Amino acid sequence: MKFDSFGLAETICRAIAEEGYTEPTKIQKEAIPAILTGRDVLAAAQTGTGKTAGFTLPILQRLLEEKGTRGPELRVLILTPTRELAAQVHESILAYGKHTRLRSTVIFGGVSINPQIQALRKGTDILVATPGRLLDLASQGHLKFSKIHTLVLDEADRMLDMGFIHDIRRVLKLLPAKRQNLLFSATFSQSILKLTQGLLQKPLRIEATPNSTAATTVQQKIYTVEQAGKLALLRHLITDGDWQQVLVFTRTKHGANRLSQKLEQSGIKAAAIHGNKSQNARTKALAGFKQGQVRVLVATDIAARGLDIEQLPHVVNFDLPNVAEDYVHRIGRTGRAGSPGHADSLVSREELPLLKNIEKIIKQRLERSTVSLN
Ligand code: AMP
Repeated sequence: MKFDSFGLAETICRAIAEEGYTEPTKIQKEAIPAILTGRDVLAAAQTGTGKTAGFTLPILQRLLEEKGTRGPELRVLILTPTRELAAQVHESILAYGKHTRLRSTVIFGGVSINPQIQALRKGTDILVATPGRLLDLASQGHLKFSKIHTLVLDEADRMLDMGFIHDIRRVLKLLPAKRQNLLFSATFSQSILKLTQGLLQKPLRIEATPNSTAATTVQQKIYTVEQAGKLALLRHLITDGDWQQVLVFTRTKHGANRLSQKLEQSGIKAAAIHGNKSQNARTKALAGFKQGQVRVLVATDIAARGLDIEQLPHVVNFDLPNVAEDYVHRIGRTGRAGSPGHADSLVSREELPLLKNIEKIIKQRLERSTVSLN
């Protein structure tokens, strides 16, 4: 199956070809035709599945087909939990829509509001936003919602985890009742299912990656180690294996900062990325990591969500996550698109119950090993 079989405009097909995509991914094969017909979609999909193009391409196509608009008009709203994801979705829209005249704008908190007000004044067809800043700008009268006919909730589970449910409900009240709704979520908790009721009309359900599949394509290792020995073990793994690009997860922001400082002190270039960092610091850390100046990116679960870093060779769980599903998200950051990935977890005795929960979810027992550093 090729992209041209969807009947997308030549301008969109050309942009896809320039991105180097030849075959649509699984989620794209299912989502694109459904969204083109105007159907609501409920998709189980995480970053790395191609979900962004899965909703962006048909949205662009539908906007192009609409007649009677004079200049840009806000018709599509995409909500994301984090600034990083908002920026990445916006960049994807710019890439896929670069040969069209459609406009996209991105707004998120943590940066000055004035440039965003200026950008909105110029007019936009698509708005990518985090909920808080959207409501801010709406309350100041900078947004007109009456023409919006498509709503995307991206990483809806994470939005709920981050406590955005009330903001989401407030946004929904501002939108015209008749619209197409597309909801993407990596997991389906009770709270997500509750949100979908009344929001989605006869949605097409799509499953891009069942929760346990990432686990089969990634080589997972468990190192049992005392908490106090984790730093030395991590240093050993990085230097002994000559790892040049590794994403390390910690449970807390404080833990991320401390670990990145300790690595720096031992001569390993590292940076921390989490919600307390300014937008500039986060962008800089991510850029340094992508370009290879930063060897280790230390992240919390929330900050790492939606980071698009292609084919990451190594992921390390410095701490195991409290929520077992987060383990699957974390290791899903390695070994994308068929390239081999390695996920190593440093597990202290106190964390063994967490490991048991993870093994239940991935339906697999993981081999434990120890390393002697003498
Ligand atoms: P996403 O899941 O939307 O975050 O996309 C993950 C990565 O896959 C991004 O770097 C995209 O550029 C890439 N991608 C999306 N669709 C395709 C495709 N059909 N072929 C190859 N790469 C793709």
